[in-house]
Amino acid sequence: MKVYARTPLDLQKVTVPQGQVYLIPERCKGCSLCIEFCPQEIFQVSTGLNAKGYHYPEIIPGKEEACVHCGFCTLVCPEFAIFTLLVEPEVP
Ligand code: SF4
Ligand code: SF4
Repeated sequence: MKVYARTPLDLQKVTVPQGQVYLIPERCKGCSLCIEFCPQEIFQVSTGLNAKGYHYPEIIPGKEEACVHCGFCTLVCPEFAIFTLLVEPEVP
């Protein structure tokens, strides 16, 4: 829950996008940049190893729907190992 110093006047009009995270573990080199730069702090280092011997990131349990599709993880990943797709909101 965000705490605002002053509530934005258009707060009710703003919808927060949701992203679906995709990771290609075999490309990862375990640099942890995606973990450090994610503003939602949804990643942690996994115990799993890829074929190159690196611990790739994983989503922290309970944060599967926390991605806001900002694209920072894709931007900073030097191995093009991670990307997100926008989850379209359900039409009522
Ligand atoms: S798109 Fe943004 S919020 Fe989603 S996992 Fe990447 S850095 Fe985190
Ligand atoms: S930024 Fe890319 S290479 Fe680095 S830990 Fe994340 S997925 Fe792996």
